[in-house]
Amino acid sequence: MKEPILTLVVPCYNEEAVLKETANRLRAVLLSCAQDQLISFRSTILFVDDGSRDQTWAMIDHYAQENQEITGLKLSRNFGHQNALIAGMETARPYSDCIITIDADLQDEVNAIRKFLIKFRDGFDVVYGVRDKRETDTFFKKQSALLFYQIMEKLGVKMVPNHADYRLLSRRVLDEFVNYQEENLFLRGMIPLLGFKSTKVYYNRAQRFAGESKYPLRKMLNFAVDGITSFSVAPIRMVTYLGGMVAGIGVLIGIYALIQHFIGHVVTGWTSMILSIWMIGGMQLTAIGVIGEYIGKIFKETKHRPRYIIEKRQLTHTSFETKIF
Ligand code: UDP
Ligand code: MG
Repeated sequence: MKEPILTLVVPCYNEEAVLKETANRLRAVLLSCAQDQLISFRSTILFVDDGSRDQTWAMIDHYAQENQEITGLKLSRNFGHQNALIAGMETARPYSDCIITIDADLQDEVNAIRKFLIKFRDGFDVVYGVRDKRETDTFFKKQSALLFYQIMEKLGVKMVPNHADYRLLSRRVLDEFVNYQEENLFLRGMIPLLGFKSTKVYYNRAQRFAGESKYPLRKMLNFAVDGITSFSVAPIRMVTYLGGMVAGIGVLIGIYALIQHFIGHVVTGWTSMILSIWMIGGMQLTAIGVIGEYIGKIFKETKHRPRYIIEKRQLTHTSFETKIF
């Protein structure tokens, strides 16, 4: 049997501090896996520069010229982690038998790649990298992640807990994946929806090798809200139920107010009036907010804008046949 061609897809946003080490470690893994006949010698690493403002692209460009197994893609601006991954996956699809997405910061243990590939050889189409422990994460990050998984599960979205975007996908899965053309794609929720035979590989998540996290709290919150609203209309339904409940309470309060009116104690109703105005006002604002969130989604989707724009390519696969490792 011919060995499969693997492409490692690595999104990079201002990663000049780690890139050299990342490139070296990934090349070493690629080479050793190729020597053990797990993958073809034509396997490559695809760095996707997500509009970095530092030397990231210059470095990728340089490595790609020096090494046949290193390729690069430069997006025209910062499109975000998910879109950078998608750009890499779609670019690699035509010439890869499988791809593995991995962060540039070496937080994901590179040695797990070999385990992913063994699972792939055993016939799995999707391999999820799952963090063994999250001891390198802060207490807050751990708790908020847990809460997020719980909410998602309640909403009926199947996700693999403690799995980030470190995963292997076979060509078959990628072929199906490209049919999902929605703009706001949340990979962690999407991939399980595709089905196929999947498994998990556990690994230890290390500290960032260098540089700092590109996911501040604000981005994390956006990511969570997007994740929820792209997969579920449950929040809207909740608001509807809440609205019904509030309307019911309103009727009771109305009856109470009328009775009070006929008894003659009109002024005593002031407190409850103020309370209900604020309560209902709050509910309405929340409801409008949730609905607005979905309308915003529809607005964005109907424009059918591209998810990313490629500015430059540094690919070697066009001349695959003549190149060796
Ligand atoms: N990243 C990206 N575009 C962005 C933000 C991040 O391509 O807008 C990349 C980043 O270079 C890294 C990966 O996505 O390779 C994960 O980001 P980071 O390590 O900052 O996230 P964290 O591990 O802190 O969640
Ligand atoms: Mg990281």
